[in-house]
Amino acid sequence: MRPRLVLIGTGGTIAATAGDARTLTGYQVTQGIEAMLAAIPGVADIADIRCEQPFNVDSRNLSTARVLRLAHEVDRHVRDAEVDAVVVTHGTDSLEETAFFLHLTVRSPKPIVLIGAMRPASALSADGPLNLVNALLTAADPASRDRGVLVVMNDRILAARHAAKRHTTRVDAFGADGAGVLGAITDGRVRYDMRPDLPETAPFSLTGLRAMPPVDIILDYQDAPRHPYTAAIQAGSRGIVVAAMGNGSLSPAALRGCAEAGRRGLVCVRASRVPDGQVTDAAQGPLASHALNPLQARIVLRLALARGLGQVGIKDLLQRL
Ligand code: ASP
Repeated sequence: MRPRLVLIGTGGTIAATAGDARTLTGYQVTQGIEAMLAAIPGVADIADIRCEQPFNVDSRNLSTARVLRLAHEVDRHVRDAEVDAVVVTHGTDSLEETAFFLHLTVRSPKPIVLIGAMRPASALSADGPLNLVNALLTAADPASRDRGVLVVMNDRILAARHAAKRHTTRVDAFGADGAGVLGAITDGRVRYDMRPDLPETAPFSLTGLRAMPPVDIILDYQDAPRHPYTAAIQAGSRGIVVAAMGNGSLSPAALRGCAEAGRRGLVCVRASRVPDGQVTDAAQGPLASHALNPLQARIVLRLALARGLGQVGIKDLLQRL
């Protein structure tokens, strides 16, 4: 039977056009998902594809409400016996946040594939059409089942657990640390080299989840000031993730700021501004993010707080993810 896919368009550069073919950065989101798909020859050979467009925005404009709406939609589709896989087109600037959110909240053996493009649809050598075809091929391939949420960019298949944007403009902008590069698509053929060893997928249920508490990320650095911590407390944040130095080392201001935040009931987590490696436990002070980067730790903390987990439960979860 032909694979049945749902293609959800949410916007981003892949759906954008600029004034001329050489303009790669000054663009507007203008293309609906149906039109994007219709412009690519041969996609009907891949699968039966049903399009949806919950919104069409640059990913820097994505609110929590929109991400939750998208997650609920993806979850509904993968539970539908008539749907084999879901593909989401997305702006690349915050794609890794949505992908990790889906990784934490949608449990299904069915492929869920996110893609974007670094160049607008109007550009010379636009990367969107091939990325989209590759994502559809990946989603339609039974070999993609049970590999967790996937990100397909520039011919590679990455685990959402590990995928991150690592270059501001190049088409090979996305990478994945350690075990995150799972396979590739070449000449329309999907090939996997590995299956991710995901310690825990979807530890959070989406049932009834309509909002999440605010959690801030504060970058730490030499001679850092205290005022971002005071501002976070005053703004009513429920948690702070420090993008700390090295293995979660904190400046004096960050240490004092987290201590004060802790006294006021905020949960503080030390992640690292260093791209690779883990943050290990310390005897005192904020919780360690372990293998999670600051963006990922923030998402976990928001979900954990939304589900009423306390310090002990959050500590345990951070160790396992
Ligand atoms: N500005 C874009 C976005 O929506 C960047 C991109 O998609 O490449 O994130």
